[in-house]
Amino acid sequence: MTLEPYAANPEYTLGREFNESKSKFRNDFQRDRDRIIHSSAFRRLEYKTQVFVNHEGDMFRTRLTHSLEVSQISRGIARTLKCHEDLAEAIALAHDLGHTPFGHAGQDSLNNCMKPFGGFEHNLQSLRVVDFLEQRYANFDGLNLTFETREGILKHCSFKNAKNLGAVGERFIKKQQPSLEAQLVNYADEIAYNSHDIDDGYRSGIIKFKKLMEVSLFKECAELVKKEYPNIGEIRWLHETIRRVTFSLIFDICETSSLNIDKYKPKRIEDIRKLPNLINLSKNMEQKQLELKQFLRHFLYEHERVVKMTDNAKKIIKDLFFHFMNDPSLLPESYTKNSGNDFSRSIADYLAGMTDRYAINIHKDYKLNSKKHCL
Ligand code: MG
Repeated sequence: MTLEPYAANPEYTLGREFNESKSKFRNDFQRDRDRIIHSSAFRRLEYKTQVFVNHEGDMFRTRLTHSLEVSQISRGIARTLKCHEDLAEAIALAHDLGHTPFGHAGQDSLNNCMKPFGGFEHNLQSLRVVDFLEQRYANFDGLNLTFETREGILKHCSFKNAKNLGAVGERFIKKQQPSLEAQLVNYADEIAYNSHDIDDGYRSGIIKFKKLMEVSLFKECAELVKKEYPNIGEIRWLHETIRRVTFSLIFDICETSSLNIDKYKPKRIEDIRKLPNLINLSKNMEQKQLELKQFLRHFLYEHERVVKMTDNAKKIIKDLFFHFMNDPSLLPESYTKNSGNDFSRSIADYLAGMTDRYAINIHKDYKLNSKKHCL
């Protein structure tokens, strides 16, 4: 791996909360990645919704396959820009660990329930998973990851929450940037979901090819494919087009970011933190990506079939939250041991960690469908 001096370097990591001796065979970022892959939160991503609930079909993306796609795109960009691939991979694999079941609907519902108790935010929850909730090591809670991986996981954070997070919260107070590896994973996340949601949207029957031709980036790529392969069937045409959409976005981000790096000439990671965000799409491509995002929001995420699923999901989370608030003794002991009387946070931890089908099953078991909420 060839690294530029501005890349994150495990030799100069800002370290782990609990001191550990170095591994003979793996650098610190590889070790973080391995810890993430072996965590139980990572395995549960397999049964968590991306857009479609897991049981709607075996072909749709889940949080796990989404995270793998983000990791693959991140590694490619990191390699091109001579950043640290292992760090980019670790951040990408961990970036959605704190997601609730049922995708954004689950997060919105849990956030509403938690409003009086400090709210719920999935980025903060991902950090909570790796800092506290995983119970795999004798000497510490969580996974004891390096500062650089934790910094990358915490993509957004309010000023109020940042003040309680120590060193990893400081950049939100000082308005600084994270490492280039963290910056590029944010874009890889967007590129991955914009591309795979076209595929899943088409596969579900909700979005037709003809409709997709209204999106300029899709249309440009689709026309190039058709010109090259005039007799291509629709499925291959779609996949060739999505492949080219993904490639165009990745190519643009590598080119634009390289120009930014050439312009600002950062010498070390400390320079990256003080400069503006150097990982960017060109203005033209940013606009095209925005158009695609707006299309997906309007014609997929807000489609009545998806909305019906999300309304059900919101109700399940809300029912379960108030069920446990009314009787916290029903919570598993591992979730209450450190919370004192703050049961709301323990409930949020428990609910956020559930898979879709686990939440659906215990909602059924507790016969919560007919219950009215007392709050
Ligand atoms: Mg994501």
